[in-house]
Amino acid sequence: MSLESAVLIETPEQIFLRVYRQIRPHAKPPRITIGFRKFANANSFIRLEEGHLETRITDVLDGAPAYVIEALAHILISKLARRPPERVYQERYRRYLNRKEMRRSLMLLRQSRGRKQLRDPRGHQFDLDALFEELNFRFFYGLMARPTLGWSLRPSRTTLGHYDPSHNAIVLSSWLDRPEVPALAVEYVLFHEMLHLRYPVEHRGLRRCVHTAEFKEAEKQFPEWKEARRLLKKL
Ligand SMILES: [Zn+2]
Repeated sequence: MSLESAVLIETPEQIFLRVYRQIRPHAKPPRITIGFRKFANANSFIRLEEGHLETRITDVLDGAPAYVIEALAHILISKLARRPPERVYQERYRRYLNRKEMRRSLMLLRQSRGRKQLRDPRGHQFDLDALFEELNFRFFYGLMARPTLGWSLRPSRTTLGHYDPSHNAIVLSSWLDRPEVPALAVEYVLFHEMLHLRYPVEHRGLRRCVHTAEFKEAEKQFPEWKEARRLLKKL
């Protein structure tokens, strides 16, 4: 490496220091350490203690271009300074993570490092495997390969179900696994998640488009969908 290029290339620590000075021009510059860690997702952490700025970054970004590290530095240091990061950096970072190869490596990462925690599909009240086969037969000619099914560890009232493509798993909120909940409501939530498996999420630039027009149309195949939605609202 020539002396010239050594001057031009900033290390991640130098980038963080430069951004820190920019965001907090009056604060004393901290000592900076950055570690790349094997997380199961794209999370990064930052903390400042006694003049020491410690940052842990997902190893997926190890070797990312300097402009991406710079964007992440803006996001993390702004968080530390309790102010929203400038939009341009947020978007730059998001766009990088949203790139096809990036999405792929993040998905592989979740598969290999993250553990999916769920409860047995045979719940107290409803058996998800049996319900799946019934819906599969009714709406998909029995052709849909059965994903991993299970009840969530924590009962959530807001997320009643979700499909996780990296684990190929459908999880329903254990909040639904109660005698007061009509079978129709559970069937509808499961059917909705099965449609997510049938129509994978489309990525359009920065936006994730989850419920496409095609998806919404397919959802209406469920004859009692209006009734099911009403029941869920009432719950
Ligand atoms: Zn959905």
